[in-house]
Amino acid sequence: MKKHNFYAGPSILPEVAIEETIKAIKDFEGTGISLMSVSHRSKEFEAVMNETEALFKELLDIPEGYKVIFLGGGASTQFMMVPYNMLNKKAAYLNTGTWAKKALKEAKGFGEVVEVASSADTIYNYIPKGYEVPADADYFHITTNNTIYGTEIKHDMDCKVPLVADMSSDIFSRPVDVSKYALIYGGAQKNFAPAGVTFVIVKEDILGKVDRYLPTMIDYRTHIENGSMFNTPPVLPIFTGYQTLKWLKNLGGLEVMQKINQEKANLLYSEIDRNKLFKPTVLDEADRSIMNICWIMNDEYKDLEQDFLKFAQERGMVGMKGHRSVGGFRASTYNALPKESVEALVAVMKEFESKH
Ligand SMILES: *Cc1c(COP(=O)(O)O)cnc(C)c1O
Repeated sequence: MKKHNFYAGPSILPEVAIEETIKAIKDFEGTGISLMSVSHRSKEFEAVMNETEALFKELLDIPEGYKVIFLGGGASTQFMMVPYNMLNKKAAYLNTGTWAKKALKEAKGFGEVVEVASSADTIYNYIPKGYEVPADADYFHITTNNTIYGTEIKHDMDCKVPLVADMSSDIFSRPVDVSKYALIYGGAQKNFAPAGVTFVIVKEDILGKVDRYLPTMIDYRTHIENGSMFNTPPVLPIFTGYQTLKWLKNLGGLEVMQKINQEKANLLYSEIDRNKLFKPTVLDEADRSIMNICWIMNDEYKDLEQDFLKFAQERGMVGMKGHRSVGGFRASTYNALPKESVEALVAVMKEFESKH
């Protein structure tokens, strides 16, 4: 049976990226050596690194003055590295969910942290608005897509202080005006590559402004100066990520990707809104994520939750259980998820409805 992969992360990747990785694991670029055994300093891998960086710049239209680096440690390590490198006295954070809250917690070890707003009061089912960012903050940190709760900041906001964004789960889902940000980071395993590599896009002139000692590995400048090769980079996930970006470019780039993502999301949200059994958790359409779509049973059908999960599983739907803090269901509709998978899910929802 065909499987439809709705996992939130690690998650679906373009088939061609997986196929090319399998080939390279056997014979990397005709070297006769496996991608897993080749030196990161070989000219063949250096080319992969350079081209991956070039595709980041091309697809996201990254302006002059920014660097792209690839690190280990996941987005969670960036929760610490960002304040280490950028927080002198005060930082502002928008609390839109579990990941945002974890980022905020780390920053507290480095200075004063202002939580400008929070949507914790209603299990993070909206993006707070109308808050004030202190003008003397060293930076303002946002999580553009809240993977667990299905909310998303889908525009690039103006901000008086340097803007830092965790884009782990919506990078490459839409065009981004990078010039509005001082730093963008994310773990790879949602929309880019297998787990193991973390990308950081950083405006170079914001660095070097903190007074504290920065351990070598923590200092972004180390990795900029060494082209992400100060220590051994995660060779394999970078290679797969490179294939993902080539796939994205062949597809037509981020405007085309955004259009497809919006179509997939519209399809599923309309069914959730229409189907008598279900209701969405995020009510304001402006806040609805196009990457992670969350919904629950309508009150009178609450008892059917497990039945629906099983019913969907039996029809090939994988990874649809909602996060334990929200319950219900979550379908992650990342870039690589084909529209046919969303159509198949909608058909399953209709079929289940017809039985009740
Ligand atoms: C998954 C996720 C993280 C955590 O990433 P790790 O690479 O596992 O540390 C952080 N932020 C967001 C928005 C995520 O979706």
